[in-house]
Amino acid sequence: MPETNEAVTHAFWLAGRKATGESTLEVTSPWDGRRVGAVSVPTEAQIEEAVAAADAVRDEFAATPAHVRAAALDHVSRRLAERTEEIARLISDENGKPMKWARGEVGRAVSVFRFAAEEARRFNGGEAQRLDTDAGGVGRLALTRRFPRGTVLGIAPFNFPLNLCAHKVAPAIAVGAPIILKPAPATPLSAIVLGELLSETELPAGSWSVLPVPNDRMPALVQDERLPVISFTGSDKVGYAIKESVPLKHCTLELGGNGAAVVLGDYASEADLDWAATRIGTFSNYQGGQSCISVQRVIADASVYERLLPKVIAAVEAQVTGDPTDDATDVGPLVSEDAARRVEEWVDEAVQAGAQLLTGGKRDGAAYAPTVLADVPADVTIAREEVFGPVLTVQRAEGEEAAYAAVNASKYGLQAGVFTRDVQTAFRAHRALEVGGVIIGDVPSYRADQMPYGGAKRSGVGREGVRFAMEDYTYERVMVLTGL
Ligand code: NAD
Repeated sequence: MPETNEAVTHAFWLAGRKATGESTLEVTSPWDGRRVGAVSVPTEAQIEEAVAAADAVRDEFAATPAHVRAAALDHVSRRLAERTEEIARLISDENGKPMKWARGEVGRAVSVFRFAAEEARRFNGGEAQRLDTDAGGVGRLALTRRFPRGTVLGIAPFNFPLNLCAHKVAPAIAVGAPIILKPAPATPLSAIVLGELLSETELPAGSWSVLPVPNDRMPALVQDERLPVISFTGSDKVGYAIKESVPLKHCTLELGGNGAAVVLGDYASEADLDWAATRIGTFSNYQGGQSCISVQRVIADASVYERLLPKVIAAVEAQVTGDPTDDATDVGPLVSEDAARRVEEWVDEAVQAGAQLLTGGKRDGAAYAPTVLADVPADVTIAREEVFGPVLTVQRAEGEEAAYAAVNASKYGLQAGVFTRDVQTAFRAHRALEVGGVIIGDVPSYRADQMPYGGAKRSGVGREGVRFAMEDYTYERVMVLTGL
């Protein structure tokens, strides 16, 4: 376990064993600048060794019995659960995430590995299809099974340093595909602990590596033909640049969003509006708004807008900001002071262009106060881009269709929340919204780790969610039996 607050430099994991390179990456807490630790950085030769080892073990790993892979996944799940408190503290230290959310993140990773173990046991039983439904197929049968595409390069962002690594690693192991995991430079230590738990299993040595590769060495790794699958979670800028640089590779891109919560006219009782406002207040600010499915926009029907707004402001102001290690804290710092300065600039730009600042709008180092803006002009940055900070914009819509049009007036399309009590409205919203997930009766920030998850438009391509990532990492290969 990486010890925090100490002058420790951790090894990385090369083909299942510890290794050190020639340089190190320092990890500091965004809350108080304290050194959390450091991790050794692999050399070019070590990166090559990891890729070659994965390539060498590819066929052996694909043939590993399902019960062996499932047992390894169950082991990691159990060990994460046993070590929840210390790993949550590590996430909180390197990311600045409040402990209550960090514990939740470990709990989700526990589930991801458990789901992967369950799926590994039932995946790829194969499907038989009769072909004699046509004269040309008489005496023939098609058997379809899925096989791994090859080694996965998993690239993870900083905002869920454990669980988004789990979403890359667990499905790869479940299907028997080797994986090279590349954590984010600001938050590599959670991934190093994940490597420690994987090292306790019987998985073949070359089948996994955790390499904190510097960004400038990534283009060469992305191009490597021995890594036919790239599973990337991060910004749309980097994600699409990767995809464009390797058009022939299978790329899953889980990118940004500017999630909208729609509150419709039928969601109008005091209790309904209290629930909507509480959820919006919490999920525009959790992890400092640094979640791809944070609530960034509230679009409320004109008939409920005036009653909802003060409740939303109160819910936002009720968020406790401060030291992430304090159990009472809801909102910690952003990942860096630069990130907080960027949010500050975007809010200032909106206010100068005529937006009303209803609460917040203050920066203190890397911390930015939970903020609500109204009357935001459509052409300012915050109305168009992903803010990735604790800032909410509120707007009115005249009716259901106008609300959906406002949601869709974005280059992003990850998830949307729709507060309605009417089942037919729910189906209309599901049809109308150009997003990967429509959450009825809650904010867009709801994610269950077993459900399909991913974006439309600039929010990405492909789906995660354990079984869906397993499908993504594999392809169907049909075998036709003749003369039956
Ligand atoms: P980022 O794009 O800056 O970095 C993501 C990863 O890509 C990091 O590991 C980084 O080191 C690596 N990287 C950087 N340059 C690279 C290159 N040239 N080639 C290959 N890899 C490279 O993103 P971030 O700031 O770490 O994360 C925030 C972003 O992630 C936000 O946009 C957020 O919405 C998005 N995100 C999306 C999801 C989702 O599931 N859709 C989940 C979480 C975060």
